[in-house]
Amino acid sequence: MTTPAISVTKLSKRFGETLVLKDIDLEVQKGEVTCLIGPSGSGKSTLLRCMAFLEEATAGMIRIEGSPLGMIEEGGKRRRQSAAELRATRSKIGMVFQQFNLWPHMTALGNVSAALRRVRGLSRSEAEQRAMDQLTKVGLAERAGHYPSQLSGGQQQRVAIARALALEPTIMLFDEPTSALDPELTGEVLNVMRRLADEGMTMVVVTHEIGFAASVGNRICFLDQGRLLFHDSPEKVFAAPRSPRLEQFLDTYLDRGAAMLK
Ligand code: ADP
Ligand code: MG
Repeated sequence: MTTPAISVTKLSKRFGETLVLKDIDLEVQKGEVTCLIGPSGSGKSTLLRCMAFLEEATAGMIRIEGSPLGMIEEGGKRRRQSAAELRATRSKIGMVFQQFNLWPHMTALGNVSAALRRVRGLSRSEAEQRAMDQLTKVGLAERAGHYPSQLSGGQQQRVAIARALALEPTIMLFDEPTSALDPELTGEVLNVMRRLADEGMTMVVVTHEIGFAASVGNRICFLDQGRLLFHDSPEKVFAAPRSPRLEQFLDTYLDRGAAMLK
């Protein structure tokens, strides 16, 4: 067995009195696309944010390519990782959010190259060269000099993907990357993600695009009220007869591509 890209063990997360993730066990293998589906409020974003260490788990453990994230167990004791250890582990992860969060006062090229200069310390010309390569990859070479306000939502999200990819993560996390887009703009973003998957990128994608999940996902995770109800291939998860909770969920999102499953 090779080391999983991500392993989540007995993960729980509490916000105040509310337990929003309950005893989650999950492995993501390298090169696989895992799609995380489930009703609103079921804990999908929280789980993804724990994987990126934007939230810290209340209990349990996350490992990224074998390295613990946040807490380390050594000689039977738990200790917090040093800032340098945490940075090294987190640098493997790129994240794309529903809201693109681009800097409005920077061009597409500036948005992609800024972190390369600041975080990686590259010179302006090196950073811009690498940023240009990534913008080309998402089909936006011609838009490099445009500001976010001059770009469509789909183009802005592709810039956000290029920005994450420029830092050369080995794992990409997507939290509903097309939910803020007009329906006619979702395809261009999903196509970029599909190509990334074809190239072998390890991806975890929270999505309501059931058609995408069924066609690109190697694994489907269904979260319901903080519990992981299924974690299996799309063929198994979507095969009829389906569990009542999943059926109810699919009925709600039928207009977003679930019709193809019938
Ligand atoms: P999903 O992404 O599946 O819609 P979330 O992970 O965003 O679900 O939220 C799961 C639950 O945790 C919800 O009940 C939500 O209100 C709660 N929650 C999320 N973030 C916070 C927070 N920062 N503080 C308190 N409660 C939160
Ligand atoms: Mg969410």
